[in-house]
Formats: sequence, C-alpha cells, structure tokens
Amino acid sequence: MDKKENIKKILEKIQEAEYVLVGLGQYFDMQYFLSMQEGYREIIEKLQERHALWMEPYVDTCCRKQFSPKLEDEMTKGLQNLAEILEKKSYFVVSTSTNRTLREIPWKKLLMKKERYVNPCGEWSKLQCPDGCPEGLLPVTDNEEKILRDWYQNMKKGDFRIPDLGKCPNCGKELIFNNIYAEQYDEKGYLENWAEYHNWLQNTWNHRLVILEIGEGTRFPSIMKNPFERIAMFQQKAELYRIDEEQNPIAWLLALC
Ligand SMILES: [Zn+2]
Repeated sequence: MDKKENIKKILEKIQEAEYVLVGLGQYFDMQYFLSMQEGYREIIEKLQERHALWMEPYVDTCCRKQFSPKLEDEMTKGLQNLAEILEKKSYFVVSTSTNRTLREIPWKKLLMKKERYVNPCGEWSKLQCPDGCPEGLLPVTDNEEKILRDWYQNMKKGDFRIPDLGKCPNCGKELIFNNIYAEQYDEKGYLENWAEYHNWLQNTWNHRLVILEIGEGTRFPSIMKNPFERIAMFQQKAELYRIDEEQNPIAWLLALC
C-alpha cells in the first residue's frame, strides 16, 4: 500500500472509531539527528561526567532548536495536525519521548479538564528532589527557564557548571529535573495522569478503538509497545496501526492534513 492510501485508510478508521489511543515514541527525541552533531555529543559526555544526565532533555531541546529549527517546526506542525484530527474523538496520548514539545501540543482536555497526555519518562517541565522528597516535586517556573537559557549560552562558551534550580524545601538538596535520567527518578511526577489514562482505557473495552503507535523504538517496550499489542490481541474491536521509523513519522504526520 502506498503512503497516501495508508493515510487515507487510517483516517477512515479514526472516523469510524469511538476511541483513539495514540503512542508517540522515542523517535520524537530525534536522537538519530542529534547524535550526528559533534557539539551535542560533547555536551552529553560532560553531563555524564558530572552525573547530570537528567539535564539531557533540556539540552536536547536547545540542540534541536540550534541545529535544526526546521525539523522541530515540522514535528510541531505534524503533531498539531494529529491533534486537529482527533479533536472530536475521545482520545489519549501516551509518550515514551522526553521531548517537552510533545506536552505543549494542544491536546484537548477531557471533561473536568483532565489531561489527555501522559509521558512516563518525564522531560524538563518539573523538578524533583534527588532523594525523592514529595515536597521537591515542583513545576519549572519562568525564572528557572531564564536561568536555563543563560546556562546554555554559558555552556557553549565552555562553562559546564550545573545550573542552580533551587533547593528541596524539605532536605535542602539541589533540585534536578524530573525524568528517567535522574538517578532516583521520582515517578510521582506522572502517576496522576497515568491513573487517568487507565481509567480512560477501561472505558474503551468493547468499543471501536484505533491504536496508533508512531515512531516507537525498543527502549521501553513495557510502556506502550507490549501493552498496545495485548490490547489489540484481546480486544476484538481494537485495531493497531504502526508508523515506524522507516515510514518517517514526521512526514507521515505532515501528510495528515
Ligand atoms: Zn529533598
């Protein structure tokens, strides 16, 4: 089936479906692109030496903007297309990517303003205490975003000190980003949305459900790859479609509208 036909068929299935479950995978981190940039690899090595890999999602954001603003813009546009197509559906988006831009796509909220997006790997929108004190789980503010922007500029000039993002209100340790690269990842950062996702998923049972898995790799199969397969296998009215790396997920999304 050629690409146009494949998109047409999937759009028809979405039209007919009552529920749509979307998985956005690690492709959206754009590591395939970033790891080709020498400047990027150098920064990541420095972070590793300083046990600060939790900074990686932030560095990824800066490097995508620096090295390929066009790619980042295309991805955003493509995901906005998807949000538009799903607008009238009951849907949920699960992501294994640590790209913060995915969170900022206008995924419409469910009734009662519940979120339709969950990313169990985190990114850099929240802070946590390195020891996991509940008081340390805080949103990143505008002020911290400014500190981070300055940090990135200084780092490009060779200053690799870790930015000061404030201290844990409970134990006083320096806060870090709440993501999978933290040595003790505080999973409380996403559990509320995860519970919301599972509530939503229960409602889809025995209804026409389309599952779209886009750009997933093999890094965390327990988050979406395996569960999606199980749902498609056991739920008669569920159909799973995969858009893998070879199909170029960004081009695929751009072709939706
Ligand atoms: Zn603490």
